[in-house]
Amino acid sequence: MSVYQLDTIAAISTALGEGAIGIVRMSGPEAIEYANRLFREKDLNQVASHTIHYGHIYREDQSIIDEVMITVLKAPKTYTREDIIEINCHGGLVAVQEVLEACLYQGARLAQPGEFTKRAFLNGRLDLSQAEALMDLIQAKTAKSMSASMSQLSGSLSSKIKHLRNEMLQTLAQVEVTIDYPEYDDVEELSNKALCQTALVVKDEIDKLLNEASNGQLLREGVKTVIVGRPNVGKSSLLNRLTGREKAIVTNIAGTTRDTIEELISIRGIPLLLIDTAGIRDTNEIVEQIGVNKSRQMVNEADLIILMFDQSQALSSMDLELIDLTKDKKRIVLLNKQDLKSGLDIDKLKEAIVGTSLIETSLMTDEGIYEMENQIESLFNKGAIESQDVNYLLNTRHTNLLKQAIRSLDAVIEASQMGVPVDLIQIDFTQAWDYLGEITGESVQDELLDKLFSQFCLGK
Ligand code: GDP
Repeated sequence: MSVYQLDTIAAISTALGEGAIGIVRMSGPEAIEYANRLFREKDLNQVASHTIHYGHIYREDQSIIDEVMITVLKAPKTYTREDIIEINCHGGLVAVQEVLEACLYQGARLAQPGEFTKRAFLNGRLDLSQAEALMDLIQAKTAKSMSASMSQLSGSLSSKIKHLRNEMLQTLAQVEVTIDYPEYDDVEELSNKALCQTALVVKDEIDKLLNEASNGQLLREGVKTVIVGRPNVGKSSLLNRLTGREKAIVTNIAGTTRDTIEELISIRGIPLLLIDTAGIRDTNEIVEQIGVNKSRQMVNEADLIILMFDQSQALSSMDLELIDLTKDKKRIVLLNKQDLKSGLDIDKLKEAIVGTSLIETSLMTDEGIYEMENQIESLFNKGAIESQDVNYLLNTRHTNLLKQAIRSLDAVIEASQMGVPVDLIQIDFTQAWDYLGEITGESVQDELLDKLFSQFCLGK
């Protein structure tokens, strides 16, 4: 049940703009009463919880603001664990706003961004990592990152962390007991051993979580993809093909695309953040060299390289340099312009790119594009992203806390091996336990909470 007795808040919960329905939501002890004063057709105090009612919202002067459906949700089985009213308005943006104003006039306070979810957290409905997952869900851009958020929302990260903390707590309890009954000689040694063993196990689990998280990161922000190739191989054409944009910026004069273009697209549900390497377009060799330097930096930061060649032309020194530049990266190699006569020594190319398979493409006929998508899918999807294990999307806050926990656990492991007194080791151990607790919000400061929830959109 509600621990926090709060006032009643109201907000428009649907996106602002023209939509068929707009929803005004109120949450708090007076929500039903305020709605009841605006609604005439029924006494909302008397209706059952989780029911929906047809009627109208009236102005002070008895004129009608809008025809509505009102949902009455009584505490505690609600999102915020408080009484909630949802007014489904039909009259477009103006009506939605006027209904909100009517609620405020009755005494509700305009909710701050994320305040509904904050109440859900404060009242124990969600833990912190679930609340954050909800935020990701609202912002999820692709199907796969959405299902990972869903999974976190259902508590997979929390239950994992809780499990680890529980294990640590048991060890701490065991150590306390041994210290309280020091009739055995080897108390110190036993306690040291127990702390060290648990620290090793927990550290291992956290390492796994962090590994999975790097996949989560890809889902959340997109696989940073850079299309690399010497001038005129078809980079802009590919970019346009993938983003479905106009062919306007493509010409057959090398060096036409200069601005860096970044675009988020989705291939088979995998988000790719496409970054165009402007600057390696010019024909002049010295300028090309600058281009290579510039793309070196982009290549370093990329998760995926699409390396393109023009199969109608002989390999150039720049081609070879780019092959070398990308040799340690996940890369896909396209042999473009298959519709033109061959002018390239394929064996030489194969020798240069050992191990990476070639995809023959033509952006004129669309040849090979399907195959390229298959390869992207198998690189990121089959390999890691779609694996059942990606249940966690860790944000920077989670990652930092996990890393801090690992540092404390490392200190535990090191100290116990050096035979440091148990009570000192315990301090680091407890510190790690606290860090983990901050992830689920079991040990968290108010200031942090305010900051987190303010990132939500209004009405959530
Ligand atoms: P970039 O300099 O690597 O970005 O290359 P662009 O995308 O600007 O392409 C250079 C020229 O090659 C343009 O005239 C494109 O229309 C043309 N082009 C791109 N791909 C193909 C292809 O597969 N076949 C043929 N015949 N021309 C292509």
